[in-house]
Amino acid sequence: MNAPENGAASPFMLQPIAAAAPAQRRTRQAQVRWANRVVTIGGDAPVRVQSMTNTDTVDVIDTAIQVKALAEAGSELVRITVNTPEAAAAVPHIREQLDRMGVEVPLIGDFHYNGHRLLTEFPAMAAALSKYRINPGNVGKGDKRDRQFAMMVEAAVKHDKAVRIGVNWGSLDQELLAALMDENARSSEPADAKQVMYQALVQSALGSAAYARELGLDANQIIISCKVSGVQDLISVYRALAARSDYALHLGLTEAGMGTKGTVASATALGVLLQEGIGDTIRVSLTPQPGEARTQEVAVALEVLQSLGLRTFNPSVTACPGCGRTTSTTFQELAKQIDDFLRAQMPVWKSRYPGVENLKVAVMGCIVNGPGESKHADIGISLPGTGEAPAAPVFIDGEKAMTLRGEGIAAEFHKIVERYIEKRFGAATASH
Ligand code: SF4
Repeated sequence: MNAPENGAASPFMLQPIAAAAPAQRRTRQAQVRWANRVVTIGGDAPVRVQSMTNTDTVDVIDTAIQVKALAEAGSELVRITVNTPEAAAAVPHIREQLDRMGVEVPLIGDFHYNGHRLLTEFPAMAAALSKYRINPGNVGKGDKRDRQFAMMVEAAVKHDKAVRIGVNWGSLDQELLAALMDENARSSEPADAKQVMYQALVQSALGSAAYARELGLDANQIIISCKVSGVQDLISVYRALAARSDYALHLGLTEAGMGTKGTVASATALGVLLQEGIGDTIRVSLTPQPGEARTQEVAVALEVLQSLGLRTFNPSVTACPGCGRTTSTTFQELAKQIDDFLRAQMPVWKSRYPGVENLKVAVMGCIVNGPGESKHADIGISLPGTGEAPAAPVFIDGEKAMTLRGEGIAAEFHKIVERYIEKRFGAATASH
C-alpha cells in the first residue's frame, strides 16, 4: 500500500510506543534486623510488604500465631501495638515464641502517648523489637512533646533500631496545625484549608526527622509516612514528601475501609505512587470483614506489587471474565481450582522450584480469545464455549500440545501443570 498523499503517516509505519514501567527513585536505605534476617527498606531494595496484627498484644500465643500467619502470607515485617505496660512486658515473649517456631520476621512496635515511658522502662521490649513506629502527633503536648519524642529516639539509638516517623492526619500535631493556620490567615494570599493540612503533615514528618537526626539517629534508619484516607490527598502528600526528602517512604492509605472499597482505594492510591517510584514499603490497611483472615491485607499488597511488575510472588492465572458465549461455570471453576492449587503448592514449590513464581497460566472460556491468550501464557487451556465441540486444547510454551476431553479435564490439567513446573523449574534445582 502506498503512503497517503495528504502527508499523513502510513498506518503501517510503526511509531515507537514507550513501554510503561515504574519509575526508579533512590532513597536512603534502612536496615531492619532480627537474628540473621536483615530486611532492607529503600535504596535498591524491592518494595517491602508489611502488615499489622489485630490481636491483643498481651495474648502472647494469639499474637505470635497471627504474626506467623502474616509472615507466611508474605509480610516481610509485622507491626504489633505496644500500648500498655502489660503489652510491653509481653513483647519479648512473643519474640521468643516466634524464634522457637523458626519465624524470624522482624517485629515493629507501634507506640502512641506512652511510648517514651514504655521504651525506657521495658528495655527487653525495646531490644526485642526491630523497629519503632513513632507518631509525632501523639507524643505529648507543649514542652513535653520534644522531651518525650527525644526519649523514644534515644531508645532507638541505644538499641540500634530503625524508626518510622509515622504521621497520620487523624492524629496530626494540633499545635503545628494551629501555627500554620495562623500563619496562613496572616498571609496576603491565604491558601485553602486542605493546603494547610498537607503542609502540616509534611512538616510534622520532616521536622521530626530532622530533630531525630539532631538526637543522633542515623538518617538512613529513618522511614517516613504521612497517612491520609483520601486517595488524591495521599498522592498529593507523598509527591511532596518525595520531592522534599530522600528518606525511605512507608506508603499506605489509612483507614482504607472494608472489602471491595478498601481494596480498590488502596490499590488505586498505591498504584499511582508506586508507578512514580514513590514508596519503599507498603501496608494495605483493610478492615477485615467478619470471618475474613487478617492475611487478606497481605494478599492485596502482594497483588498490587505483582500487578505493577515490581515484584513476583505467585504464578499468575489469567482467566477470562466469561460472557454469553459460555453459559456454564466450568471455566470459572477451573480457573479458581488452578489458582487455589498453585497458591496451596507455593510454600513447597518456592524452595523446590526456584523461579516458579514467574509461571503464567491462562484459563479461557472459549475459542474467541482462548487460543491466543493461552499461547501468550507458559501453559494455557481454552475451554469449549456454548455450542463449541467439547474439547479443550492445551498450549505449552505457545504451541498446542494436546486436547483434553471429557469429565476429568480439571484433574488432567492440574497434572499437566505440575509436570510442566517440575520439568521447567525442577531443572534449576538440579543444576544448583
Ligand atoms: S474468551 Fe470467550 S467466553 Fe471468555 S470473555 Fe472472551 S468471548 Fe467470552
